[in-house]
Amino acid sequence: MVSQSASEQDLRRRLLEVGRWMWERGLIAGSEGNLSVRLGEGNVLLTPAGRNKGRLESNDLVTVDLKGRVVAGDARPSSEIQIHLAAYRLRADVGAVIHAHPCAVVAYSLAGVALVPTFNPEVGAAIGPITEVAYEAAGSAALTALFEKALAHNNAFIMARHGAVTLGNDIEHAFDRLEMLEQLARIQVMTQVIAQRAIG
Ligand SMILES: [Zn+2]
Repeated sequence: MVSQSASEQDLRRRLLEVGRWMWERGLIAGSEGNLSVRLGEGNVLLTPAGRNKGRLESNDLVTVDLKGRVVAGDARPSSEIQIHLAAYRLRADVGAVIHAHPCAVVAYSLAGVALVPTFNPEVGAAIGPITEVAYEAAGSAALTALFEKALAHNNAFIMARHGAVTLGNDIEHAFDRLEMLEQLARIQVMTQVIAQRAIG
């Protein structure tokens, strides 16, 4: 195995830790989701396809360049790799990308109901505007093209009938945005249930 710098070892440890947080908090299930961080020298550290991201070890991670060519690691990179790479190519400020299928966020999208992002200024400031990206098949060039158009400024994206993507300066930052996005959706689910009962 290629020797890793102390900073890369730290990035690996933190990526694995955030994968565990996501699984423990129910933001991913089974083999869902993918996480990545930007390494130096134009490379990206990415989770493998088809694995539970809550139970990964450092050797399971794959290093790719910004064109998606595998630089190190034996696993097959995540199928959503192109969305991650687009974020790193187009946004110098992005140090980490997370994609997940958070339950309440996806349920809202399936129902065709938009989230109301502005009820809490703290959440609004942390997440920023939430961009909805129209449906295209997972892993498709068409979906990547939609992201390339949407990526310019915002940091939280709802993929229609699919999931969410959040960006951050680092992996914890991207995780916080994902967790807050899902919390926002959960609060709105509860609000609607309670409001309906109050009326009924
Ligand atoms: Zn997905």
